[in-house]
Amino acid sequence: MTADLDRLQSVLQRELQHGCDDELVDGGLDELLRRQVRGEQPPSPLLRMLAALPDEGYRALDVEARRQWLKRALATIVQERGTPADTRRRRAPAPKTPGRGTRARPAAPATPARSGGATAARPQVVPPGAAALDLPLRQAGTGLRSATFDRLEKLGLRTVGEALRHYPYRHHDFSRTVPIAQLRVGVEQTVRGTVDRAREVRMGRRGRMRSTEATISDEAGASVRVVWFNQPYLARQLRPGAEIAIAGTAIAYRGHTTFQNPQFELLDEPGTDGQTHTGRLVPVYRLTERLPQRTLRALIAGLLDRFVDRIAEPLPAELRERHGLMGIVEATRQGHYPDSAEALTAARRRLAFDELLSLQLGVVRRKREWQEAGDAPQIADRSAAESFVDSLPFALTGAQQRVLGEVLGDLGRSVPMARLLEGDVGSGKTVVALAAILATVAAGHQAVMMAPTEVLAEQHFRTICALLSGEPEPPLSGVVNVPFLPLPLRVVLLTGSTRSKQRRDALEAVAHGGAQIIVGTHALIEKGVTFQRLGLAVVDEQHRFGVMQRAELREKGQSPHLLVMTATPIPRSLALTVFGDLDLSVIDEMPPGRTPIETHWLPPERRDEAFATLRAEVEAGRQGFVICPLVEGSETVISRAATEEHERLCSEQFPDLADRIALLHGRMSGREKAAAMAAFASGETAILVSTAVVEVGIDVPNATVMLIEGADRFGLAQLHQFRGRVGRGEHPSLCYLLADDPSEEAEQRLSIVARTVNGFELAEADMRMRGPGELFGTRQSGMPSLQVASLLDVRLIHATRREAEHLLDADPKLAAREHWELRLMAARLADSVVAEAS
Ligand code: ADP
Ligand code: MG
Repeated sequence: MTADLDRLQSVLQRELQHGCDDELVDGGLDELLRRQVRGEQPPSPLLRMLAALPDEGYRALDVEARRQWLKRALATIVQERGTPADTRRRRAPAPKTPGRGTRARPAAPATPARSGGATAARPQVVPPGAAALDLPLRQAGTGLRSATFDRLEKLGLRTVGEALRHYPYRHHDFSRTVPIAQLRVGVEQTVRGTVDRAREVRMGRRGRMRSTEATISDEAGASVRVVWFNQPYLARQLRPGAEIAIAGTAIAYRGHTTFQNPQFELLDEPGTDGQTHTGRLVPVYRLTERLPQRTLRALIAGLLDRFVDRIAEPLPAELRERHGLMGIVEATRQGHYPDSAEALTAARRRLAFDELLSLQLGVVRRKREWQEAGDAPQIADRSAAESFVDSLPFALTGAQQRVLGEVLGDLGRSVPMARLLEGDVGSGKTVVALAAILATVAAGHQAVMMAPTEVLAEQHFRTICALLSGEPEPPLSGVVNVPFLPLPLRVVLLTGSTRSKQRRDALEAVAHGGAQIIVGTHALIEKGVTFQRLGLAVVDEQHRFGVMQRAELREKGQSPHLLVMTATPIPRSLALTVFGDLDLSVIDEMPPGRTPIETHWLPPERRDEAFATLRAEVEAGRQGFVICPLVEGSETVISRAATEEHERLCSEQFPDLADRIALLHGRMSGREKAAAMAAFASGETAILVSTAVVEVGIDVPNATVMLIEGADRFGLAQLHQFRGRVGRGEHPSLCYLLADDPSEEAEQRLSIVARTVNGFELAEADMRMRGPGELFGTRQSGMPSLQVASLLDVRLIHATRREAEHLLDADPKLAAREHWELRLMAARLADSVVAEAS
C-alpha cells in the first residue's frame, strides 16, 4: 500500500507552521504516522522518515528537533513526489471523506487482464497482521471489476477493514429450508432444487419490462415458479439442470406459488458453499446505485474468510469480561453471518458497545481538553448579576435561580465552563444568560452572545439594551447606562447587514476593549472578530457549537467560559452522547401567568376554521404568524413559496387587511428582515407570513395565533418551536397545524403535537419516529454515524460513558500500547462525524 503522501505533506507543513506543538492531529502525529505506515514495504520514503525518529516517536522530541525532522521529512516527500502538495491537490479529485489517515490514494485502474475482463488483477501482496485491513479493496484480490470499486467507494468502502465494518442493517431469516411442496405463502423460507427452465419474458405495460421467469423443481417432483423483474440477464445465467437455492417470501399468483425477486444462489458455482445468500440468516446491506446486494454479500463473505482473524481486539480483556462481550473477531463474523439469532444479538451488542464507547471517548476527551488546557477568568463577584436580577420587573422562577447558580458557580472557577442550558421556548433562558454576561463585564471582561440568524441577533441586541437600561429602544451609540454599574457599557451589534463604517468602529472597539458586550451572528463573529479579553461566550440555538468553533476560539488565544443555549429539549441519551462534552442545566419550569396554547391539527376541508380564528384575533387587536410549508429546493425556491402565500393572503384571504400583512424569508436582506420583525414587534403588522427563519427565539407577546401550513413536512421539535412563538403574553393562544395530504405517520406525529405541550415528551417521540439526526433539522448537526448502536440505548450509553472515563483517567491520551487499537477505533468514529458535517 502506498501512504497518502499528499495528505501527509500538508499535515507536516501545517505542523511546521503551527510551531510543532503536536496538537494538529487527534492522537498526535505519531498516531497518524503509525496509521500511514501500516503495510508500507521498503524502500518507502515513509519508512525512511520514521527511521529517523526515536523509539518514543515524534512526541518525545523537543521543538527544535521536531522542526528539523519535519523539514527533512518534507524534503523526502517532495523528492519522492516531485510536485508540491498544493498543485497536486487541485488536480486530484477531492476525497469523499477528508481527514482520514488510513486513506490510500486510489490505485491506478488495473490494466484489463484476461480476455474481455476488466478484473483488477494486481500482484497481490497482503501485508502482515492487522495491516492487512488497510489493504485497498482494489488490491485485495477480490476479482471484482473496477466499476464495482467505484461504487464501493461511494459507500465509503475502500479498504478491507472498511468493508468488514460495513455491518448489515438487518438479516433475512432464510434458515428454514423446506421441500417445495411445503412452501407457505407469506413466510420467509428457503427451497432447493434444480432449474427446469429459465427464459426471458416481457411483462408490464406493452411488454416493456424485460424479466426472467424460471421453474424450479425438487427431488420430490414439486415445482415452483420464480420471477425476477427487470433482470433479463438472469435467464442466461440460470442454465437448466443447475442446482439452485431460492430464498424469499412466496406469494400466490393466479393460483401458483410464486417467488418474486427472491434471493438465490447457484449451488454448483465454484467458490460458493450455498451459505452466502440463502439457507441461513442472510445479511442485508446498505447499498448504493448499481451495487447489487449479491455482490456485496459475496465480497464481504470472502473477505471474512480471509481477513477476519486479522482484526485486532481494541477492548481490554478485563473490560470485555466485565460486560460479557464477545471478542471482536467473533462479533465481526457473527455480525455478518450469524450462526443463530442469539449469536447475532450478542454480536450486535458487542459492536454497539464499541460504537458508543468510541463516541464517549471522543466527547469525554474533548470535554477534558477544553477544561484542562484552558485558563478562563475567575469571576467570583456575583453582585452585578444579583443587582441585575433585582432590577427585573419579575422574579426569577425557581428553575432560573437554580440554573443561574450553576452558571455563576462555573464562572467562579478558572476551569472554563462548558455548559448546555436547556429550556423550553419562553422558559427565560435569555435573562439567565444576561445575568452571567453582567457578572463577566463587571469583572472587566468581555462577553459575546451569538445567534444563528440576523433576526435573532438583532432581537437579542434590543432585549439586552432594554433590560439593562430600562429604555424601550436601544440607543444609537449602543452605549447604555446601567443603573447599578459605575460606568456605562457599550453593546455592539455585528451582523451581515451592519454597515462597513459601523462595523469597522465596532471591531475596533471590540479589539481594544471599548465594547464590553458583543451581539452578532455566529458566522460573523467566528470569522472576523478579535477580542481584547473575552471572558464568556454565550451561544444561542446552535446545538453543535462546540467541536469546530471551540477550537477556533482557542486558536484566537481565548479560553472563555462557554454557555450553549437550546430550546430543543434534549433527551437524556443525547445529552450524554452527542452533547456529552457539555454539562447540562435544565430550566424545567415556565414563568407564571403563561396561558396554555391550544393546538389543533386540521384536515384540508377545515382549513377555513384556522383562517377565521386568525381574522377574529386580529380584529380583537392580536397578531398571528402564518408559516409556509417546507418545500424542497434552494432558499430561493422556499422564499418564492412564501412570497406566493403572502400574495394569496393579501388578495384572497384577507384583502381588507392587506396593508397589515408582512413577509419574512431568507432571501430578504438583513435590513429588510429586521424591519419586518420590528414592524411585527410594534404591532404595526398584524400577520407575519414567514418561512422557517422565524423558527427560534422571536418574542412578541401580543401574537396569539400560529398557523402552520404543510405542517406534516416539519419535525415535531420544529413544530414545537413554532408554537413557542405564541403564548408568550397574557392572552390565550392557538396553534393550527394544516396538512393537505398527510401520510399516516405524519397524522400520528401531528396528533402528538396537538396532544402534548411538553417539549421533552415531543423530543423523545420525534427521536423515536425519525431518528436523532432529524431532531435538529439537518444532518449537519454532527450526529455520529452509528451503524449498530442506538442513541436510544440509555443503559449502554451509561455503561460506555463510565468505561470511557475510567480509561481516560488512567491513560488520558490512550497512548499506552494496549490502547492503540482503542484509540484508532475512536478516531474512526470522530472522522465519520467530521466527514458528514463538512
Ligand atoms: P427563552 O429564550 O427561554 O425562549 P426568554 O428568555 O426569551 O425565553 O423569555 C421569554 C419571555 O419571558 C421574555 O419576555 C422574558 O422577559 C420573560 N421572562 C423571563 N423570565 C421570566 C420570569 N421569571 N417571570 C416572568 N417573565 C419572565
Ligand atoms: Mg431565546
